[in-house]
Amino acid sequence: MNIDESAISFEQEAEKLELFGFKYETREDLLIGVRAFYSDKGYALSICGSKLEKYVVLQCDRGGQYRDVRGVPLDEREKTTGTRRINCPFKIKGKKTDEGIWIIEIRNLSHNHEASADISDYHSLRQLSQEDIKKVDHMTRSRIPSRQILSSLRQKKLELKAISKTVYNVKAKIHREKLEGRTIIQALLDELGGGT
Ligand SMILES: [Zn+2]
Repeated sequence: MNIDESAISFEQEAEKLELFGFKYETREDLLIGVRAFYSDKGYALSICGSKLEKYVVLQCDRGGQYRDVRGVPLDEREKTTGTRRINCPFKIKGKKTDEGIWIIEIRNLSHNHEASADISDYHSLRQLSQEDIKKVDHMTRSRIPSRQILSSLRQKKLELKAISKTVYNVKAKIHREKLEGRTIIQALLDELGGGT
């Protein structure tokens, strides 16, 4: 078996497991959480379809139709045509359940390009103090909706991206604690039957 391929699929399995844990009270919360999750990985997502209070479909910002009229090779399209769209197949769907919560439905987790390593994200995160992060943690545990947490922090005129990322990170941390202290990878291994 090709080692690289199994590493990629293992990474995707871990990603799937995380996405299955995503549950939000509103469409807005889902968009904030999912975008922060993927911006950490180096991908930007855009909305490519939605129906109010039913679903929202997200694709990679490098997804979408690119018409190959001039036969320009894939890796030269951006500089020769100015488009970032290279038909990246990544697609997930946020869906409102009958119980009224928003969950993720996976369509395709593959990308046909490298993630972009934008370290500016790390700098913007530093704008939040320890106290801010504790505040997010407390509000999240008190089941205060993300939008309310965001607006309370936004009064400090911090970058929205930094705030939403922190809200996501705290939620993810709490979710991980719910997995009885197991790490995502351990939880995945247990799911697969341990293999011992
Ligand atoms: Zn992509």
